[in-house]
Amino acid sequence: MLLRVGNLSKSFDGFKAVDGVTFEVPAGRLVALIGPNGAGKSTCFNMVNGQLKPTSGSIRFNNQEIAGMRPRDIWRLGVGRTFQIAATFNSMTVIENVQIALASRDKHLLGLWKPASASHTDEAMALLEQVGMAGHARRACGVLAYGDVKRVELAIALANQPKLLLMDEPTAGMAPNERNDLMALTKQLVKERDIGVLFTEHSMDVVFEYADKLIVLARGKLIAQGDAETVRNHAHVQEVYLGTGKSFTPRATFAGGVRR
Ligand code: ADP
Ligand code: MG
Repeated sequence: MLLRVGNLSKSFDGFKAVDGVTFEVPAGRLVALIGPNGAGKSTCFNMVNGQLKPTSGSIRFNNQEIAGMRPRDIWRLGVGRTFQIAATFNSMTVIENVQIALASRDKHLLGLWKPASASHTDEAMALLEQVGMAGHARRACGVLAYGDVKRVELAIALANQPKLLLMDEPTAGMAPNERNDLMALTKQLVKERDIGVLFTEHSMDVVFEYADKLIVLARGKLIAQGDAETVRNHAHVQEVYLGTGKSFTPRATFAGGVRR
């Protein structure tokens, strides 16, 4: 088991944003953290990556307690996350962005800073190959289609060879076909690299199609977890999703188990 979150809570001025949540993320699994807006998903993510200190509870990564550790130290242990490519990096090429990520990894790994250079070219190309962006290596990030930028962000996150990857709303702003492409790619990487991925996603179609396991939060509490079928048929989950505009028909059968 890669990640074990136990009885995790976070309060903001007495308001319980996350309230006694317990779940696990195994290696080689794509795990979705879902729930209506304000459910506490991002707060959970930010406690796991170290941006927020838990009020109470435990976060064990590879059997090591990481709750309250600094983000950099958690990152070094192998917990990665996707970042949006900042505007300043848009003028650089795709491969330069990945080379910088590799140089940054080496700085933490070896304690020495070498400017991103030829030594990282092959490795960067291999990563771009994996995310299907090798053909765009010499283009500026700023001119890429939105879905392609997300692939580059994934390559950058993989540069540190994370064992666990956190993706908070990776497909936000994407067209449905781009969403499916990114999640299919992510699922493939999960299997190939045997990493665990925890992601949030608004589209129930995407979640039901790709996630190996679902964790459902509502008002800071975990209300259900399990595979798509279990969650789809869970009375409390249906109740929570009614009226959010993201309801789904629970008992109907769809091609491939997925509602289109
Ligand atoms: P989600 O990602 O599921 O939409 P969040 O984790 O962002 O939900 O937020 C959960 C709840 O905690 C919301 O009610 C939000 O307003 C509150 N919250 C989140 N961050 C803070 C903060 N820094 N200070 C106060 N309240 C916060
Ligand atoms: Mg959020």
